[in-house]
Parts: sequence; structure tokens; C-alpha cells
Amino acid sequence: MGLLAVLVEENQITELRVMEPNDIPFLEVIGNLELGCDITLVPNNHFLWSREDFQNWTKNRKRLLMEDFYREGRKRFQVLMEGDKPIGRKWNFDKDNRKPPKGKLNTPSALWFEVDDITQEVIETVNSLSIPTYGEIKEFPWGVTRQQALQVLDWFIENRLPGFGTYQDAMVTGEDTMWHSLLSPYLNLGLLQPLEVIQAAETAYQDKQLPLNSVEGFIRQVLGWREYMQGIYHYVGKNYPQKNWFNHTQPLPEFFWTGKTKMNCLYQILSQIQRTGYAHHIQRLMVLSNFALIAGFSPQEVENWFHAAFIDAYDWVMQTNVMGMGLFADGGILASKPYAASANYINKMSDYCKSCVYNHKQRTGKDACPFNFFYWDFLHRHREKLQTQGRMTFILKNLDRMSQKELDSIHQQVQAWYLQHN
Ligand SMILES: Cc1cc2nc3c(=O)[nH]c(=O)nc-3n(C[C@H](O)[C@H](O)[C@H](O)COP(=O)(O)OP(=O)(O)OC[C@H]3O[C@@H](n4cnc5c(N)ncnc54)[C@H](O)[C@@H]3O)c2cc1C
Ligand code: SF4
Repeated sequence: MGLLAVLVEENQITELRVMEPNDIPFLEVIGNLELGCDITLVPNNHFLWSREDFQNWTKNRKRLLMEDFYREGRKRFQVLMEGDKPIGRKWNFDKDNRKPPKGKLNTPSALWFEVDDITQEVIETVNSLSIPTYGEIKEFPWGVTRQQALQVLDWFIENRLPGFGTYQDAMVTGEDTMWHSLLSPYLNLGLLQPLEVIQAAETAYQDKQLPLNSVEGFIRQVLGWREYMQGIYHYVGKNYPQKNWFNHTQPLPEFFWTGKTKMNCLYQILSQIQRTGYAHHIQRLMVLSNFALIAGFSPQEVENWFHAAFIDAYDWVMQTNVMGMGLFADGGILASKPYAASANYINKMSDYCKSCVYNHKQRTGKDACPFNFFYWDFLHRHREKLQTQGRMTFILKNLDRMSQKELDSIHQQVQAWYLQHN
């Protein structure tokens, strides 16, 4: 900060133009700068929807559904449209995009880069600092320039987009990235613009007749989810980061930082993040934040960990995805029900359970999978709150079939786990 003021003075700068940051804390830092010159904010160009347009869209709506917002975006920016109808006569092909992994998948390789001189210098500087850091820094394979970001986009369109949809939710040991685009860091930094990414996918669909479930599935992520999350971030207001609907206060266990756990799904994903700073959406949602939710970890501690661990972390995308979608800390502003699941889901959508010391079918006992006892205990503990969420009725009926004896032994198992890990 001091250095900036010196530069302003030495160069007799009278006006500094800054692109308005999307993160509220960063905007506050800029607002508090005392530089001795005018600071002019220019609009942020990292998103297609302006904050005002999003606010207008929210007016007179009972629920702010992503699907409604996404359809509006398709029409507004004329993406995958034939006149006023969606191409393929359907807005959403999500149902075709949840195939579990079976047998050999032949995933296409990802495009990574050699470390350049500047990056090497940064690595050495970080290594020389005596501050606590997270992850491995031996290699840094991500692109660092606009040119490299464009290469990753081209690579994705050519090699990964054709198969993007089908296994979008699948998780496989040793396959860190599957068919995912790896574009989030470049989009969030502004090295790529959302419209150019969307148009590249649409052009490939037209020119190469790519499967619509893949192209629509990908475009929904960028034109739908990404834009929606930033709109919601500015819509929900300043106290959102403190929200804690379930009053969860358990501390985040040490193994989130070290990766040392016997739970194979968590071990695989945590080690992958230490190496790459990356996990794909279902790994983040249905393993990491799912576990944090059902085990009752403090949302603020969980958010802090996500922020430290991921290559694409920003406040706007953490608050919405971690606090809102992952942990349901906002009580349902963003998600229509908590994303809570037992080992059953992980076993269906991954191969992790096959090589785990825990038994994905057991709820209690020495070999019981922690996802199971935490899941049922979570439902039981929060039954009253959960029954206000319409989409939970069916699941709560399953809970009602369990005997008090079983619920008690599940609860004991949960308590024993906390004792072991705190
Ligand atoms: C608990 C949790 C934490 C997350 N943290 C982040 C984060 O720190 N930064 C981040 O950019 N995304 C985050 N996401 C959203 C999403 O998981 C990542 O954007 C995606 O996994 C990035 O990998 P990719 O580029 O290979 O994505 P792909 O699967 O290839 O998707 C394409 C693009 O769509 C966008 N996108 C998809 N889903 C979302 C979403 N829910 N929110 C915002 N953009 C989305 C991203 O720009 C992504 O690059 C998080 C999701 C969850 C559930
Ligand atoms: S058995 Fe449980 S802990 Fe082990 S991999 Fe499966 S879900 Fe994860």
C-alpha cells in the first residue's frame, strides 16, 4: 500500500483507474486507499451479467432458481437457440450427464505447461518464506498467460468437450480431471472472457456436430452457474459469510490440511488438491463439502480451508458454493435442499470405496463408513429443520424407519469419531 502511494507521488499521478473487483472485501480495501489521487472504478468485465441486470431479474420472483436464470441467459445472449426455442427442444440435458464410471474410461489427457522463469522465481520466493503454506510447490503446471489460457481452451474444445457431459459427475482414482475443462482459474483471473468460452463451445457444436448433452452441459456451467453465483453473491448481502443455519461448530480436522486419513475418497481427493490445487465439481460438492456438512464442521472454518487450498478460489465463488451450495449455511437461499449423501452415492459415482478400509454398506461397527453414520446422525439431529425443506420428505421417511436403538448406536459412533479426531 505504501509503495503504491509512493509511485503515485513520484509519477504525479492524478487519477488511477481500477477495474471494479468482484470480491467485496477487495473492493473495501480499494475504497480505503489513501493515495493522494482520484480513484475511478471501471466496470468489471469478468461476467456477462451486470449486478444491476441481475437485481432486475430478481424482482417479483418468489424463488431465484438457477434454471430460470439460465434460460433467461440463453435467450438474452442467443446461445444454443433457434429463434425463441432451445436447440434440441430441451433446455437441459442434465439427466444424460450422470453416468457412473464403469470399466476403463479412456479419459483424454489435460494440457499442462512447463514452469517459466517468472513462475520459478515465485516458487523460490515462496519456498524461502517462513510462513505456513499448503500443498506441494515442486511443480506448477497451470498456464500463467493469456496465450496459455487460450491454448487450454482450444485443447478442451478439441479433446474434452465431445465427452464432457456423460461422465460429468463421475470420480475415478488417478483421474484428477476427467473431461473437465480446467478453465475456472483463467476465467476468474480474467485471462479468458466468458463469452469467448461459450462461443467456442457453440461453434464447435455447429461445426463438428458434437453431442448436445456435452455442449449444453458445459455452457450451462459457464452461462448458468458461474453467472448465477456471482449475481447471488451481490444479492445476498454482507452478513452472508457469518451464516450458520445448522449451528455447526465442530472444528475442521487436521487431516483436511495434511491429507492423512484412512477414508479413501477423502485421501484421494485431498492428495490431489495438495498436488494440483484442483478438484472437480462433484469431488468438491459430494465428497469434501458433503462430509463437512454431515459431520457438522464450522462453515467458516470450512470456507477458510477451501479458500486456502484451491487454485480458483475467490470470495464471490467461495461464499456461494461453499457456504450456500455445499454447507447449506444460508438455510436454502441458494440450494433447494442440502447436498447431504451417504457412502451409497460415493460408491455409485466412483471407484474409491473398492480400495477403502471402511465398508460402504455399514452404518455402525468398526468397519462402518463415516459417511454413513454421520449422514444418518445429521438427518436425525436436524430433523425438525429439515422437514421444513419440501425436497427432504422422502429421505426423512427412510429415517423414520430406523429404530431408536440403531439411531443411538449411530450417535455413539459419531461421538467416538469426534473424540478420536479433536
Ligand atoms: C464446495 C465448492 C467449492 C467451489 N469452489 C470454487 C472456487 O473456488 N472457484 C471456482 O471457480 N469454482 C468453484 N466451485 C465451482 C466448480 O466446482 C468449479 O468452478 C469447477 O469445478 C472448476 O473446474 P473446471 O474449470 O474444470 O470446471 P468444469 O466442470 O469444466 O465447468 C466449466 C466452468 O463452469 C464454471 N462453473 C461450473 N460450476 C460452477 C459453480 N458452481 N460456480 C461457479 N462457476 C462454476 C467454472 O467457471 C468452470 O470453469 C466450487 C464448487 C463447490 C461445490
Ligand atoms: S467406504 Fe466410505 S470412506 Fe471409504 S471411500 Fe467409500 S465413502 Fe469414502
